[in-house]
Amino acid sequence: MNIPKSKTVKQESKKTVKKRKKNHLFQSVRGMADILPKNQSWWKAIFDVGWTVSELHDFRFIETPIVEQAGLFEAGVGAATDIVEKEMYVFKTKGGEKVALRPEGTAPVMRSYLEHHLGYFASPLKVFYYGPMFRYERPQKSRYREHHQWGFEIIGDSDAVYDVQIILVVLSFLKALKFKEPTLKINTIGCRICRPTYRDKLKEYYRYRKAKLCRDCVRRYDQNILRLLDCKQPECQKLRENAPIILDYLCSSCNNHFRSVLELVEDNNIAYVPDPYLVRGLDYYNKTVFEVFSSSLPEAALAGGGRYDYLSELLGGRPMPAVGSSSGLERIIEAMQAEDLTPPLKSKPKVFFIAIGDEAKKASLKFINELRSNGIQTLESLGKKSLGNQLKMADKFKARLAIIVGQREVFEGSAIVRDMKSGVQENIILEKLVEETKKRLK
Ligand SMILES: [Zn+2]
Ligand SMILES: [Zn+2]
Repeated sequence: MNIPKSKTVKQESKKTVKKRKKNHLFQSVRGMADILPKNQSWWKAIFDVGWTVSELHDFRFIETPIVEQAGLFEAGVGAATDIVEKEMYVFKTKGGEKVALRPEGTAPVMRSYLEHHLGYFASPLKVFYYGPMFRYERPQKSRYREHHQWGFEIIGDSDAVYDVQIILVVLSFLKALKFKEPTLKINTIGCRICRPTYRDKLKEYYRYRKAKLCRDCVRRYDQNILRLLDCKQPECQKLRENAPIILDYLCSSCNNHFRSVLELVEDNNIAYVPDPYLVRGLDYYNKTVFEVFSSSLPEAALAGGGRYDYLSELLGGRPMPAVGSSSGLERIIEAMQAEDLTPPLKSKPKVFFIAIGDEAKKASLKFINELRSNGIQTLESLGKKSLGNQLKMADKFKARLAIIVGQREVFEGSAIVRDMKSGVQENIILEKLVEETKKRLK
């Protein structure tokens, strides 16, 4: 496939590429990124907050494999979607089975629900998941070919209460990450009964305006006309201003459902913006669809979701109403950084262990292990030799105490405990080290 070179991704100069290639043979695959140690606090905050909020809202953990049968997504997500048509990583196993790296998490969760009869254990079933998703699309800022999502799904109930439970858990997740005022945009896309009428009306409207549409929309006109509404091209946005809106064509069931959702949203003091042009890219959605935006990234949703009452049937199950949502974690981190939010983490007091000389380095494990096995988070940089350099590291990692051992301390079976703020030092024998350290960390 011929993917055009991205303009937004910084290109390396020829010189740097040459230099890099001289140093090592391999680099990460285009569009896929390493999560580096320097970003530990961001990811840890997301996992901590994600688990806490999920449990608070009574969601259970589920994890499905990264590789699934390709047919699962063809049937569930829809063969005529960009995801399945162009962006899926599909390959044949040695056994000849056609499999895919999962491009999204909802179809696998429903597959698991049906396979393990999970509805038997909870009604409705409320689950959350997180992990990597894969889409072979043009790499650009905040869009990776491997990216991570956090998802919530409620399977087995059609009541509007559950649409709003999903919205509430997503908003709690974002608020716990300290996003100030996430904006909820909401719409309905109707059902099997009312959507065809609306689709016909749209076709009628756009039929004589096709020439003014962008190239993608001309293709979407036949395949998935609803997608014309969320095209970002200015010419298409202008054209849709007079397009019919679905609210005028809803059947009574969809109308009542949407009204109940909005009533509950208002009852729970959730600020929202009705957006008649909001549709979702995947085929399995019906009725409620929503997206949540932060002030810093008004173009890119932090979370999106909706109802998918037909997915079970598409996968060969019996009709099973469901609603869910997912969030791109790289994008959330980017938005947090853009808004100057710090990762909400409870930081534990740390000590930094410093060894001076080979004897001390050899003896260091005994000291460090004693501290760590007593629950004291102990950092070290034994590769650095001088006291000054090691103290600098202790400062950098904001250690409360430094525990310093030189040749003399090894011989005496003691250590110097130094308060990093005041600089006050004291010699403590090994037997009392844990006790005295804990006292000073309080
Ligand atoms: Zn309907
Ligand atoms: Zn367009």
